[in-house]
Parts: sequence; C-alpha cells; structure tokens
Amino acid sequence: MKIRNIFLRFGRKILSFLPSGIVLMYHRVCDDDFDPYGICVSQKNFLEHLKILKENFDIIPVRLVPEYVKRKFVGKKKFIAITFDDGYSDNIKAFEILDYMKIHATLFVITGHLLDKNSKDTIKRILWWERLKGLFSKDFKKLILKIRDKEISFIVENHLSNLKVQVKKRSFEAGKHIIRKNELFSYLYTELKYTREDQRERILCSIEDQIGAVSLDQDILLSERDIESVGKSGFSVGAHTETHQPLSVLSEDEQRKEITLSKHKLENILKKDVLEFSYPFGLQSDFSDLSIKIVKEAGLEIACTGVKRGVLPFMVDRYAIPRFNVMNWNSQEFEHKIREFFNLVI
Ligand SMILES: [Zn+2]
Repeated sequence: MKIRNIFLRFGRKILSFLPSGIVLMYHRVCDDDFDPYGICVSQKNFLEHLKILKENFDIIPVRLVPEYVKRKFVGKKKFIAITFDDGYSDNIKAFEILDYMKIHATLFVITGHLLDKNSKDTIKRILWWERLKGLFSKDFKKLILKIRDKEISFIVENHLSNLKVQVKKRSFEAGKHIIRKNELFSYLYTELKYTREDQRERILCSIEDQIGAVSLDQDILLSERDIESVGKSGFSVGAHTETHQPLSVLSEDEQRKEITLSKHKLENILKKDVLEFSYPFGLQSDFSDLSIKIVKEAGLEIACTGVKRGVLPFMVDRYAIPRFNVMNWNSQEFEHKIREFFNLVI
C-alpha cells in the first residue's frame, strides 16, 4: 500500500472521532428532466434524502455550525446542515416537506425582483442561466456572436439534448468554428457568468434574435409573501445578493450594494435581522477577501460558499463555510455520496 494511502486511512480513522459535519446545498425540488446545471432534485428523491439524514445525523441550522463543531465531543453523531440557494418558487413545496418532517433548513434568496414594480424584467435579467438553458433546449445549427470585440461564427456539430455544464474559461479567435453543442453551452455559460451585466444581456439578446426567445415562468422565483411565510414557519432566511453576479467581477461599491441591499430588503419583508449570507455561485473564484470584509461590515454573521469540503473544529471559518451541492440522487446514490463527502472533510 502506498504511504499516501496509509496516511489517508489513518487520518480518516482519527477524523471519524472528531466532531465533523457537512453542509448540503440544494437549489430546486422539481421534476425537470432537462437539468444541465444539476440543480433539480425530484420530490421523491428529496423525501428519501431527508429520511436518511434524519435517521443518521444531527440536523442543525447552518448559523450554528461554527459553535456546534467546537462544542460537540467524541462519540456523538456527525452533523448536517441543509441549505437552499436562489429562492426558486418550487422551494415552497420543499419547505412544506421540511416543516412536516420537523427538519430545519436555511433559505438563501436572490432579492433583486422583490419590492420591484418591473419584477418580470428583473427576473429575466437575473436568471440568465435559465434563459440560456431554454435557448439550448432548441435545435439550432449556427450562432454568430460578437464576444470580446471578435465576431465568432459557431457551427453546431450535433444536437444532443443531454447537456451538462462545465465551467471552463476558453477563448475563440474571430472567424468560423465547428463546435459540439455541449462545448458551446459550457463556453457561453462561463463567458456570461464572468462578464458584466450589460455585455451578458447583449449576447443573450443576440442569441434570442437568431434562434427565438424563450419565456421564463413568471413565478419562477419566490415572492415576498412566500419568503415571509418560510420565515414565519421558523426556517432561517439569508441573503444571496440582489442580482446574483460573481462578487469577484464587481467593484467594491457594487459588491456593497449587492450585499447590503439584499439584507435590508429581506429584513423589511421578514421584520427581523438577517444574519446569514451565501456567495452567488460560491466557487473560490467567485468572491474575494474584499467580499468577505464587506459581508462582515454589513453585520452578517455567517457566509456560505460552494467550496466542496466538510467542516472541522480547527478549520471552520464562519465567513467561508464550505458546502456540497446535492443532485437528483436516489437513496442509494445519496448514501454513497454522503459517505464520500465525509471522506472529503479534509
Ligand atoms: Zn445562487
């Protein structure tokens, strides 16, 4: 056996006695077969997940993770915290299930469309990835786009509908490129994610002009009343910025506005302090030390990332709590994944 493996086995043995835990990140509970972002969990699978979690773990609110991980001692159950990001309206059903099963969860919501007279247009701008998904569900053979001042002509090689996004920065020279639909989808997703809002809108509108616009469900995001009702049922509600852009591409003032406005809007709706936050997209490249500083200054007490790691007492940073994204796994797959996540505690 290789020395590294011996160390890992030994390390994991020790870790199994330490008070460790993991934080799970859900997005949607719905039955959408076309899910290139891996964010839709069916209601049936969601119920299975909750049963497994309730039987095997202490389920705690994410804001208690830093204290809990220090307080718990050897021999107790491992802990899990459940979070939901973005505030899709299908979360209402998920929170009804959580309420029925007496399981706590934290909902992080995008707030740009709340208390806004033009909420329909705002939602369309915020949920650009849903528009991109809708556009790529169509069949098309060619796209001509102006990106970074270059006119690029994409000839789409095949029309498979089982797309899976991969965030990977690429660049294309001006001119004609033959490309697989999946590669084009990943390229455009990454490009749109890290570009500024006006550019993103220009590129999306250009795609819509060429292959026809898709309409988003008007009620795709939770309303003020929905959020109020989740809060009143005893769940935690946290801020997830106004317009869900990677904070790392924004100026200091823009980041401050995104963070504080989102917190204040929610406080207005919930009539109480909002202390939890999660970074949009949440990868290490999506926020910076400056973002963390602004989050602290705004009076938020905990912030979640999408960095895949577990939580250990000597490694917990309350402004960068790691989380694992949950996909549409059946009970067997979910159990296997949870075991795998606990092996990734370090
Ligand atoms: Zn998000």
